[in-house]
Amino acid sequence: MNYIIENSMKKALWEKMPCTCKKGIVMEEHPIKNCHYCRCKIAWDSVPKKSFTIKDSKGKDQTVNKITLIRGKYEDIIGWTHDNGGKK
Ligand SMILES: [Zn+2]
Repeated sequence: MNYIIENSMKKALWEKMPCTCKKGIVMEEHPIKNCHYCRCKIAWDSVPKKSFTIKDSKGKDQTVNKITLIRGKYEDIIGWTHDNGGKK
């Protein structure tokens, strides 16, 4: 079964923003220095990119094959939802 990410984009607004970190200088790097690009990248990296298993209310495994991204003002990922996948 295919895994579907709803509301995915070819290139979101945040991906067009430059990273403003000075690499190698801790005080000038995210997260000490607030860099929009790095903050958004970390959020994107935390999104599951393939199907995963959750427990339903009865403790049975259910496979999630589809999630929907929730985007913020930079089209960055501020959250995601799933419809509980699997069969009822
Ligand atoms: Zn950065």
